[in-house]
Amino acid sequence: MVSYQDSEISAAWEEIFSKDKYRLMFADIAASYPEKKSIFIPYEDIDAYSTDFAMYLLDNPDKCLGKGKEAARASLPPAWDKKDVVNLRIVSLPRDAKVEIRHLRAKHLGKMVAVEGLARKVTTVRPRMTQALFKCGRCGAEMWVEQKGIQMKEPLMCSNPDGSCNKQATQFELEPKRSIYIDTQKIEIQESPEGLRGGAQPERITGFVEDDIAGIMTAGNRVTINGIIRSSEKQDRDKTTIFEIFMDVLSIEFKEHEYDEIQITEDDELRILDMSRDPMLFDNIVASISPTIHGHEKVKGAIALQLFGGCNKEMDDGTVIRGDMHVLLVGDPGVAKSQILRYMSTLAPRGIYASGKSASAAGLTAAAVKDEFGDGRWTLEAGALVLADKGLACIDELDKMTSQDRSSLHEAMESQRISVAKAGITATLQCRCSMLAAANPKFGRFESEISITSQIDLPPALMSRFDLIFVMRDRPDKDNDRALTSHILKVHRRGQAMQVGDDAPLMAGVDIKKIKDESQNVRPIYDQDILRKYVAFSKRIVPVMTDKAMEIIEDNYLSVRASGADKNESVPITARQLEAYVRLSEASARMRLSRTVEKSDAELAVDLVEYYLGEILAPDGGQWDIDNMTSGFGKKDRDELKIVLSIVENSGTFDGISEEEIITLAQGEGLSEEKTRKRLRMMKDDGTLYSPRNSYYKRA
Ligand code: ADP
Ligand code: MG
Repeated sequence: MVSYQDSEISAAWEEIFSKDKYRLMFADIAASYPEKKSIFIPYEDIDAYSTDFAMYLLDNPDKCLGKGKEAARASLPPAWDKKDVVNLRIVSLPRDAKVEIRHLRAKHLGKMVAVEGLARKVTTVRPRMTQALFKCGRCGAEMWVEQKGIQMKEPLMCSNPDGSCNKQATQFELEPKRSIYIDTQKIEIQESPEGLRGGAQPERITGFVEDDIAGIMTAGNRVTINGIIRSSEKQDRDKTTIFEIFMDVLSIEFKEHEYDEIQITEDDELRILDMSRDPMLFDNIVASISPTIHGHEKVKGAIALQLFGGCNKEMDDGTVIRGDMHVLLVGDPGVAKSQILRYMSTLAPRGIYASGKSASAAGLTAAAVKDEFGDGRWTLEAGALVLADKGLACIDELDKMTSQDRSSLHEAMESQRISVAKAGITATLQCRCSMLAAANPKFGRFESEISITSQIDLPPALMSRFDLIFVMRDRPDKDNDRALTSHILKVHRRGQAMQVGDDAPLMAGVDIKKIKDESQNVRPIYDQDILRKYVAFSKRIVPVMTDKAMEIIEDNYLSVRASGADKNESVPITARQLEAYVRLSEASARMRLSRTVEKSDAELAVDLVEYYLGEILAPDGGQWDIDNMTSGFGKKDRDELKIVLSIVENSGTFDGISEEEIITLAQGEGLSEEKTRKRLRMMKDDGTLYSPRNSYYKRA
């Protein structure tokens, strides 16, 4: 590598800055000081001057930028305050200067690199003193002391040789008003999900942002940070040789456009158009979603549509109607909910997988916290939904979420924004994502005696935000069990065969080729890469409803609503569900790359809504008991609960009433022993009743 003398470096900068473009920038800075203090230099300008010098700069940024600042100062008018800095901010670093966070190593220390990721934490912006002005306590002489770290550095002695203190003074007074400060902010960037393979945990890096670019970024932003990698000692009491890596950020670039990270070539485009013309398109896509999971076709169909999504619409009055769809899977343990969620988080562009009971303070939404990260400052931390902005948030174990998330989630799902106002922080974070959530039923498994809705342990307001809610039950069923068993065994055997490889020695009783041929159906028809491109491509289309499609949706919605209208309970199907029909049909049209929503799209939407409502409202077939979608309880549930509750309230002694006695009394009102026991357990679980002693109940 070519090496440069100091004088050569200075000459290089002078030459670069002599371009008209930079002369104008300097004039602008001089005129608008102190608002503007930075010169933004695209890497290609330096490369155009000399490729060798540009590479030398990446390798020796401190030395080169130091000389650059001197050259910059010389280009500014004399009135410019010498104590203040001109920032040289290099932007658009070349591809080979990009390093993944997990690949940052000792060799990167002191080098300039670009790191891409999601801003997970940002602190409040606070001033840091860079030049402290002190006054000698005896002679009054003034002196400047440059400040670098957190600890304030004081002068060692008075610098005035002629002062009355005779350079012996030890008392100095800080002049805070006349000292010089810059704004600072600490940030944390996390690897973006696209770069992660196989569910690896994202790694993070801390960055320090100073001066005019402090505060331009907020939690959840997708950014490239360009800067110099440095190390600091771990915060340990003993001195150590193990160091932490962080970045002094020189510039921040935002990823403005949706799906910037997905490159679609002309060949891809031809393939995509070809796929879209296949009459089996929908089935093929469904078969490409979690192919190792057997069955669950409706769920997979719904998730496929969710991937494409409806369209965001901005109306004349400025209101925005959400196009992103939310899907909830509630099911018995072991029905592959988590498996499906994990798969989708890798398939979907900008997919994030998180659990409702995550340990981070931000949880699913966002939080302002004061912890060691902020060194005493407040930190804004982005949760899963914010990190999944413009993508898919896969939230497992939603029923285990914190009470803070419980109360803030529906706003986040509906308006797709999260407002944080606490201490020094007021921020609105975007979370324009679709949510695919999974939850277990209230009692661990679905109980057949109790209505489905009352077993979904989520607030009704939250439930109504989901476009589709699927019930996944694990009921013994001879035919299905056989098919599932054979499928899972085939998957495992295929996995074994693939590990062994084709050139394995012959084994008696095992035919590797046959095993692979027989299990072709667990291979996705479209691989993840092309499907992701297909989805990104489809987002360019905003389909418009035909009259016929509108008519089908209208008729179906009205009839579903009418079926609940004769009961004088709260109305279950609201305009929210009507919007779900629209989004689903839009997604179906988008999937076909069609600019119109046709009859078939509307029918697909109607079919899915009817299917999920049927599963929830009449799990064993028959009449829909529709009155409980939003209230959480069906009439039957309420009647049974009322009977048991009134027995507990009206009988028994100070110590409550025994279970046996309750059962006997309830039998008199037509309630079976089993039902009574279940009701008691439910009411004890939700805190309505408690047991003063074993098998005794009392109203809480
Ligand atoms: P859940 O999150 O619903 O409790 P998991 O996703 O952890 O369930 O699934 C449990 C295991 O059972 C997984 O290894 C999954 O592959 C397997 N499994 C469950 N149902 C199916 C299915 N329908 N097809 C294939 N495998 C399944
Ligand atoms: Mg699970």
